[in-house]
Amino acid sequence: MVSSTNPKFKQLRVAVVGGGLGGLSAAVALRRAGHLVEIYERRDFNVEVGASISCAANGTQWLREWDVDIPDMKPVILMKLVMRDWETGKILNQYNLDHYEEEWGNVYNMLHRQDMHATLLKAATSSEDKGTPCSVKIDHICESVDPEAGTVTFKNGVTVKADLIIGADGIRSVVRGQIGVVPDMTSAPQTCYRLNVKKSVVDELGLVKYSYDPAIQFWGGIQGKNGRSKYYKIVMSPCSDGEIVSFYCFMPTELTKHHEEGFVFEEVPVSDVIAGKYDELDPDCVNLLKNSVDRMPWRLYVHQPYDRWFKGNTCILGDAAHPMMPHQSQGACQAIEDAAALGIIFSEKYNFTTDVTAGLAMYQTIRKPRATRVQSASARATENLNERIGFTSLTPHDASLAAAEGKLTINEMNSYKMHSHVASEVEKLGAGLGPTIAVM
Ligand SMILES: Cc1cc2nc3c(=O)[nH]c(=O)nc-3n(C[C@H](O)[C@H](O)[C@H](O)COP(=O)(O)OP(=O)(O)OC[C@H]3O[C@@H](n4cnc5c(N)ncnc54)[C@H](O)[C@@H]3O)c2cc1C
Repeated sequence: MVSSTNPKFKQLRVAVVGGGLGGLSAAVALRRAGHLVEIYERRDFNVEVGASISCAANGTQWLREWDVDIPDMKPVILMKLVMRDWETGKILNQYNLDHYEEEWGNVYNMLHRQDMHATLLKAATSSEDKGTPCSVKIDHICESVDPEAGTVTFKNGVTVKADLIIGADGIRSVVRGQIGVVPDMTSAPQTCYRLNVKKSVVDELGLVKYSYDPAIQFWGGIQGKNGRSKYYKIVMSPCSDGEIVSFYCFMPTELTKHHEEGFVFEEVPVSDVIAGKYDELDPDCVNLLKNSVDRMPWRLYVHQPYDRWFKGNTCILGDAAHPMMPHQSQGACQAIEDAAALGIIFSEKYNFTTDVTAGLAMYQTIRKPRATRVQSASARATENLNERIGFTSLTPHDASLAAAEGKLTINEMNSYKMHSHVASEVEKLGAGLGPTIAVM
């Protein structure tokens, strides 16, 4: 049992289905809030792919609040967004982030996914940190959930009972179907290849050193000359203490040779990436791509927002709840925000531990509108790079115009206060509404 200053606080048994970045974040947040968490992962724990992930201030904020060892994730701190010409590499536009931390209170970290995953797993399971260490069960493929009875059944025949079930099982979520959501989705008109170039290779071969600048750099993403589609786009950023330069290379889906579903573990030849209008790409960038490793395709899907995120004592989180195109670099940050909301709602500050379903209704109220805004802004940024957070805020004047047009701005992402949002929504429930929920 946990000791709490709230006599109504009840320690919950939490089952997290899926041990990706979202599931691990939820595990850490709920462990910190005083609950007993079990994580069920279908594979072993080498689940993350070898590519970069940007964690903007709105994600970093929660990693700090949970006391996660961020330096252990070997971050590179972002200082610039740079837009380059597809054919020449000439800088077209730049957004300087020198004052980012000063302005938003947290840095923008560029991480390697495997480093981020490993550190979150440590934070979830370490016996030294606050809260009971989470336990982890691998080779548990979720087959069904009963959201009313609070049970999860796995393909290996095991059934577990929990007070709160979290479906963090990604874009092809099984849990989502079990709460009655049928996704309205289409295959995206754009496909991605991810690949990495080692910094040592850049140095040895005399490739362009600006590739490992602490920046996210883009080529393309806008309609180009000779009918070049806006779906040709490259995103480059360093990670892993600057030792790896990571690339996401996009192209129109009809050009890709890779239409298979699911993960593809075989490295693809560089010729599969340098296809179509890649023959017009900046030669410095082509040289980087030619010296890459870990080249893998990544199919993309466009999902319309779901009408619900919970049923009974079961909710969905991360890509299971709001899969989005990658063009705002916010998918994982939004999963971290989901986890943070659950940690706050089921903390001893409120009485939702006595009524988990009411707590999940609050979770949906807090998280669905914001995540849906990011999801649709990510779809818009697929069509127009100027819709990307950062480029919508090149000057304060632009930022207010962008906000007035409904575009997503850095201000909206980073000045959001989730603690006060939850407090004000709980207050609205008022006496007699919902369960006996009161702010202490
Ligand atoms: C090209 C690209 C670039 C991106 N860049 C960024 C970025 O820079 N910044 C950012 O914030 N986001 C980014 N994202 C988004 C981010 O990768 C995802 O939003 C995030 O990884 C989702 O995490 P998740 O834990 O919800 O899902 P997943 O990572 O998919 O994890 C789901 C987990 O559940 C497990 N699982 C699945 N089914 C079952 C089952 N039946 N039973 C048990 N376990 C199961 C899986 O094995 C996996 O471990 C990017 C996405 C793409 C495609």
